[in-house]
Amino acid sequence: MAQPALDLVIAALEKIRESNNRLPRASMRALAQLQAVPAVPAHPLALRTAHATAADVVESVVPSGQPPTPNKAELLEPIRERVRACTKCPHLACSRTQTVFGVGNPDADVMFIGEAPGVDEDQQGEPFVGRAGQLLTKIIKAMNFAREDVYIANILKCRPDMPSGSFGNRAPTPAEMQTCRPYLVEQIDVIQPKVLVALGAVAVEGLLGMRGTMRELRGRWHAYNGIPLMITYHPAYLLRNQAPSEKRKVWEDMLEVLERLDRPITERQRNYFL
Ligand code: SF4
Repeated sequence: MAQPALDLVIAALEKIRESNNRLPRASMRALAQLQAVPAVPAHPLALRTAHATAADVVESVVPSGQPPTPNKAELLEPIRERVRACTKCPHLACSRTQTVFGVGNPDADVMFIGEAPGVDEDQQGEPFVGRAGQLLTKIIKAMNFAREDVYIANILKCRPDMPSGSFGNRAPTPAEMQTCRPYLVEQIDVIQPKVLVALGAVAVEGLLGMRGTMRELRGRWHAYNGIPLMITYHPAYLLRNQAPSEKRKVWEDMLEVLERLDRPITERQRNYFL
C-alpha cells in the first residue's frame, strides 16, 4: 500500500508533539507542497526512510523553538514606536500633540498617501479625520471598500507647526518631508499594497521627489518601487473647488484603481459623481 508524504509528515508532527509536549507548526504552503509529493511505497525499509525524511522536512520547515514569522501588523509596531519617540524635527516634536502614524488594514490592497496631519489629525492621532478625511472616507466607500479595508498614511507623521496665534494648517517643507519619508518607506515595504494612491502634489513630491502640477501628474499611472501609483487631487482641493468636473476627475482616477485591482465595477459606480 502507498502512503502520501503528507500523511507521514502529519504522523511525524504528532510524534514531536507527544514526545516534546510542544505544538509544532508547518506553513500552509509547505503542507500544500507535501500534498503534491507522490505516494511512498509501503515496504518497511522504505517506510522507515520516508518517516525519517518526513521528520527532516518538518524540522526544516519548522525548526524547533523558532518563533513564528511575524505578521504585517506586528512588523508595523516597532516602526510605530520609533515614530512615537521621534524628535528628528525638534520644532515639530515640540509643537505636536501626538504623532500620526497611519491607520487601516496592514494587508490592504490599496494604500492612500496624504501630505501631513492637520489640526484634527494631531488631536485624534489618526490621519484624514477632518472634513477632507470625511470626503476621503466617502470616496473609499463609493469604491466598495470600508475605511478599515485600506491603509491610510501621510508623508509627515507630525503636524506642521504654525506661528503662535494663527489657525489652520500649512504644507510640510521639502526638508521636513525628506526627514520623515523613511518611515513611510518602511510602512510601504511592510504593507506591500497592490496599488498606491498619492493625494495631491505635495504627497507626490514627498514620495517621489518629483514636482509638477496636478494637471501634469494626475490621471495616469506612475510607479513607486514597482508598485503602481495613481496620483489624484487631495480631498481638501475638492472641498475648495466644488466643480462637478473636478470631482469627476478624482472618481475616474478611482475607477482606474478599481480596474487595476480587478475589482468588479457596477454600472452605478461608472456613472457615479462624488
Ligand atoms: S515629522 Fe517625522 S521625522 Fe519629523 S519629528 Fe515627526 S516623526 Fe520625526
